[in-house]
Amino acid sequence: MNIVLFGKPGAGKGTQAPKIAEQLGLPTLATGNVLRSAVKQGTALGLEAKGYMDRGDLVPDSVILGMVAEEMSRPEYAGGVILDGVVRTVPQAIGLETMLKPLGRKVDAVVSLEVPDEEIVRRMGTRTVCSTCQTPYSDLKPGDRCPNCGGVVMRRTDDEPEAVRNRLNVFAAQTAPVFDWYRQNGARLVVVDANGAVGDVTKRVLRALGK
Ligand code: AMP
Repeated sequence: MNIVLFGKPGAGKGTQAPKIAEQLGLPTLATGNVLRSAVKQGTALGLEAKGYMDRGDLVPDSVILGMVAEEMSRPEYAGGVILDGVVRTVPQAIGLETMLKPLGRKVDAVVSLEVPDEEIVRRMGTRTVCSTCQTPYSDLKPGDRCPNCGGVVMRRTDDEPEAVRNRLNVFAAQTAPVFDWYRQNGARLVVVDANGAVGDVTKRVLRALGK
């Protein structure tokens, strides 16, 4: 099964992806995590992506599609994947379809995690992330240790108010149309209320997927 997790920045994609993946026995591919690792390591991809990411802009489609093609060619993704953070534009939706078709695969479901804007702004104001394993946290402060891997927890540069505002505008302009594209192209669309406790949201997603 290939599932696209869809939603505004801060809707909980990065929190839910590993939990849903564990329940379904699928790996996750989080484009934001791949890009942040590349930035940290100072690779060519990281150098190209950093400016876009810091401003809260989207990294160009050609870069994302090249990166996703490379990642998806790994054997671990052959049996299905939970995609977190891609697809974010219509050209990416088309590119992914072109990538999967020759393999006899398609996007089986698009799960939209829905949260009001006020809640997004509130979440991003306090969100931290592990600088090593990238697990997001709502209850840890910068400098705390990650319970998952022992790494240092920090704030994301693009969670500061100006970048958050831009990311919400970018979502409305470039990412929201992706849901309609999938609707028009016959994908299974699943809308989930992503307000509330993490475990409750995971259960809602699994129930909506019939699992
Ligand atoms: P995320 O961790 O998913 O919030 O992604 C962080 C940042 O990485 C985004 O604000 C973009 O700058 C970049 N990024 C991640 N995934 C994509 C994508 N599919 N298309 C374009 N930019 C992306």
